[in-house]
Amino acid sequence: MLASLKTKLREENHPEFWRERIDHDLLPDWMGQTKTCPACGRSHTIKTKAMIKDKDSAIKAGHYLQDMKMSGRCKVIMDPVTRAVAGDTLMEGLKDFSPEAVIFERDDLHADEQALGTLLTAMSDKPDFLVSCGSGTLTDITRYNAYMAGIPFVAYATAASVDGFASGSTPLIVKGFKTTYPGIAPDIILYDPTVLAAAPQKMIAAGFGDVLAKIIALIDWRLAFFAEDEAYCPLIAGLVDQAVASCLDLAENLTALGKTDHQDQIKKEEACSQLMEALSLTGIAMQMMGSSRPASGSDHHISHLLEMRDIQRHKKGSLHGDKVGIGTLIGMTLYMRLFEGRRLPLQKPPLPAHIWEKEVRRVYGPLAEQAIAKNDPLPPQGKMWETQKQSIEAAMEAFGYNYVDRFSKLLPEARDHITAIGGPVRPDQLGYSKQDTYDAIAHGKEVRPKFTTLRLAERFGWLYDLAEEIADGLPAGRIY
Ligand SMILES: [Zn+2]
Ligand SMILES: [Zn+2]
Repeated sequence: MLASLKTKLREENHPEFWRERIDHDLLPDWMGQTKTCPACGRSHTIKTKAMIKDKDSAIKAGHYLQDMKMSGRCKVIMDPVTRAVAGDTLMEGLKDFSPEAVIFERDDLHADEQALGTLLTAMSDKPDFLVSCGSGTLTDITRYNAYMAGIPFVAYATAASVDGFASGSTPLIVKGFKTTYPGIAPDIILYDPTVLAAAPQKMIAAGFGDVLAKIIALIDWRLAFFAEDEAYCPLIAGLVDQAVASCLDLAENLTALGKTDHQDQIKKEEACSQLMEALSLTGIAMQMMGSSRPASGSDHHISHLLEMRDIQRHKKGSLHGDKVGIGTLIGMTLYMRLFEGRRLPLQKPPLPAHIWEKEVRRVYGPLAEQAIAKNDPLPPQGKMWETQKQSIEAAMEAFGYNYVDRFSKLLPEARDHITAIGGPVRPDQLGYSKQDTYDAIAHGKEVRPKFTTLRLAERFGWLYDLAEEIADGLPAGRIY
């Protein structure tokens, strides 16, 4: 049965209500378990049993695995860089598990059919489990193959660059289209603060951007609950909200170290560990919800479109968190423009269906059929939209306007933090043209048929104008 507007507005549906009630034993008690949620009544599973932070986590990996009752033979998945950073030590640490290295040498590595097949063929002797040694892409390649083979995997994180370590689903590039496939979460996540702090600055900035994205993901999710009755859990939203808050305080200590003294090094290691915890927490939130919804909104859709464009151009892509951080700043801009003066935007007419289709064909090229099949040519109209609009208005009044008000301060702060850590804040810094930026804002939404900021702007008839305004003004520094 659909929840009424009154029910949705209840205090128990506010993430803040649960944030205050989440004590620090809640998550440790939930790890490796399925429990009934006190907030939404669903059962949420956290498959991951442990997250281990240890300066010797690579050499001691075998001990930790034995403690968790893991046994048999394993493959260790790495690339030449992660091999040098930790892979060889990890192989030594896992010697009781007859480890065999699978090393990806490809320069333009993506989690695509070729990479998945490479690992699959290396698994012909049926290993008992897999160990990924790297960050997002290597973990995703490992996660999907572990899922398909029905065996567990362990993630050794070499950089706090992405929230996907703890996630249970796999973003894959299939026939050039970025799509979410099933997967499994790792049984154990291992990391070493010294290794995380030694990662390139741009990877740390990417991780920071991926946590910031939750600022948009959370409000997109809450509005989807109001507008489209999408499944929502305020406790999970509260956990993610907590992760964002803790991360904003870390920015200063995540920046590059000049001449280091020992104290600065300790501070940076601690900040990188906390960033890793915040990223893992949002990954765990995705496991609990069984979807990427708690951690991904328009911020990610903008990023996905840019990534797909790189693949079409056979270009080596930038980091996921780079583009997601940019998507977050654009998402904040969209919210601020749409709800200026704390009121709903004036209704403008939608883009006619035939123009929409022509545009999708232009933007998606050979992938257009998939994008067209997944999406309706027109946003909801008539009574359906009127009802949704009433719910959106009630939500904005209850919490949305206050949430968006924070962006006037938060947006320049987030921009400056990302810059200081060493990441990009505008698409042109990554080599994208105005047209690429316009396309990502105007047509990132067709990557997934989900309600996000982009759909919200489309439904009010503002999306294409705002996309033009933002794409045009960004390189000149006029937007933020
Ligand atoms: Zn719940
Ligand atoms: Zn992400």
